[in-house]
Amino acid sequence: MKRYINCVLCNSNESRLIFEEGQIAIVECKSCGLAYNNPRICEEKELKKVYDEKYFGGKDFSFSDIIVESWAGNSNYISSFYEKKEEITQNFLKILNEIERYKKEKGRFLELGCAYGFFLDVVRNRGWEAHGVEISNDSANYARQELKLDVKIGTLEEANYPDEYFDVIFLSDVLEHLPNPIEILKEINRILKPDGILRMLVPNDLYCLSVWIKKIIRGTKYRKPSVLPPIHLYFFSKDTLQKALKKTGFDILKIKFTVYSCPDYKNYFGVKRLLLYPILHKLFHQVSILLNMSNTINVFAKKRI
Ligand SMILES: [Zn+2]
Repeated sequence: MKRYINCVLCNSNESRLIFEEGQIAIVECKSCGLAYNNPRICEEKELKKVYDEKYFGGKDFSFSDIIVESWAGNSNYISSFYEKKEEITQNFLKILNEIERYKKEKGRFLELGCAYGFFLDVVRNRGWEAHGVEISNDSANYARQELKLDVKIGTLEEANYPDEYFDVIFLSDVLEHLPNPIEILKEINRILKPDGILRMLVPNDLYCLSVWIKKIIRGTKYRKPSVLPPIHLYFFSKDTLQKALKKTGFDILKIKFTVYSCPDYKNYFGVKRLLLYPILHKLFHQVSILLNMSNTINVFAKKRI
């Protein structure tokens, strides 16, 4: 199944090919610059299957004849969290501290795509009323049963929250997975209070320094993002994120570049075993942040009133 779509940001159907591998193609809109998977290789119904237990299970999975490599890189998400709980919790607290700089009074907090609920658990412990939405049954059930969190299984639209309900909405590595991120941003805008804050972490997958360097080293025609469709369907840049937020009723408070610190995401050049690696790694990250070319875009936005 191949289905061509127009740009969700500006509705143009004029684009140029910027990546191709087998049946997987990524194009860049000639009008607004948004990079996205086109044509789509699976329907939304099939896409839901991606996020069953296999998604967090570290196994490859397939659609008809397309093999999708698992991004997870390890076989047990839960045990690897508990192994590195200290380090990961520190990172969560850093994210939460930044949110609290914009939102001093603790109210209702929603995490869209909350997975097993580890971040939401920290949010609740800090005194927020924590809510989650998660499409993956397996991880949502863990959050509900083991962590006793208020997590709805399904999409944000299916959760059907009232207007102006949340003080903070948080998305970490979620927007780029969604079939229509513009519709989701509009829905987020609807359920956010007038003084509500939207905080997102979005991968800078096509425009980051490591992807350019890999292209040069390997001498390939295209830059290859680290996560391919149908897992990532959109490849935002700072510019296209700003356009998407503007279109959906947000004012941007701050955008900054950081480095995603997942411990399994560190092997940039295949030089992991070198003694110098930790130093090179740190230096590389600092340079990429300085150039606004690191692997994560951090967005702080508020509802335009
Ligand atoms: Zn466009």
